[in-house]
Amino acid sequence: MQSEQAGLYIHIPFCLSKCGYCSFYSIKSINLFSQFLAALKKEIEFYRHDFTYFDTIYIGGGTPSLLTVQQLADIFSSINKTYKISPRTEITIEVNPGDVSDEYLRALRSLGINRLNIGIQSFDDGVLDFLGRRHTVSEAIIAVDYARANGFNNIGMDLIYGIHNQDIKLWKKTLQKALSFSPEHISCYQLSLDERTPLYKRYKQSGFSLPEENAQVKFFMTTADLLEESSYIHYEVSNFARSNNLRSRHNMKYWQHTPYLGLGPGAHSYLHQKRWWNLPSVNGYLKKIKQGTLPVDNSEELTLEQLQLEALFLGLRTKAGIDLKLYKSKYKTDLLIEKKMIIDKLLENKILKLNRGFLTPTRAGLAIADSLALI
Ligand code: SF4
Repeated sequence: MQSEQAGLYIHIPFCLSKCGYCSFYSIKSINLFSQFLAALKKEIEFYRHDFTYFDTIYIGGGTPSLLTVQQLADIFSSINKTYKISPRTEITIEVNPGDVSDEYLRALRSLGINRLNIGIQSFDDGVLDFLGRRHTVSEAIIAVDYARANGFNNIGMDLIYGIHNQDIKLWKKTLQKALSFSPEHISCYQLSLDERTPLYKRYKQSGFSLPEENAQVKFFMTTADLLEESSYIHYEVSNFARSNNLRSRHNMKYWQHTPYLGLGPGAHSYLHQKRWWNLPSVNGYLKKIKQGTLPVDNSEELTLEQLQLEALFLGLRTKAGIDLKLYKSKYKTDLLIEKKMIIDKLLENKILKLNRGFLTPTRAGLAIADSLALI
């Protein structure tokens, strides 16, 4: 049984088309939609003895905005029947700008959804076309306007940089346009080419150019400068919030080893040092649920050493960094002794800072956060 307030993630594994850069699990065929929703209801009930209480819910995917209002209402009804939901739950849904009407957003708000994450990616139609997105800049602008008009006061925007033919000037235009809406949260991801994506195949065939490593650092620094100048808190490598209260409470659970339950194909869960993940296949998922078994693909018990490394890696990706006293009591090791040589070097090179018992990354440290995993 959980002892901390957990997060609930629901993966909606359908998209009308596949974006070029996407490595998330989803399928284009939507004829399995109703079977999936019936199975999801059963999966929601499977975990009633392991999880009792959630204070964040995140409906992601895939494309959750393909769900009708009634389908979403049914999902929430199953969740509410099975678990206690805190009255101050952060309830987020990811939406594709092209899918949402004024009426749809009003209905989402009346269902209790209080946070909208809009997959805008760019305010340039050429970039959207290159990425294979099925929405346009005008649709993105309308979606944000409708969201505000319907009372959404916690809006997140996802943006991507480091794209073929995108220079800093073009990227800044996207950032400035995003800022003109004063979103509560902005995520800026560097384009990465996963081998499983259509864009990677195009890259291999046509060899289009992408910004070099130095240019990518420049994109990162420009982003951080511009958003911090506009009073956003750069609280994680790719994430910015208008205030500490507006950080994604759900995503922070992933970074802090807080329990979370992931439902739907490919979703990951974590509880009591155990992580498990579902089959990344709609058919496989449906088959397992039909047999009355959990649709789990595999699981692992994390050793103390794995937990220590993960907490170090994830902590150094956040502005809050690592609370050394808490780290010692949770992971039974004194980082400043255990990793003394490397930490001293990183402090000397201004990659890390040590302040009032917290080890935190500098801006330069955040820029190379992935390589800090190796320390
Ligand atoms: S980026 Fe989002 S909308 Fe595009 S294919 Fe991936 S999950 Fe679907």
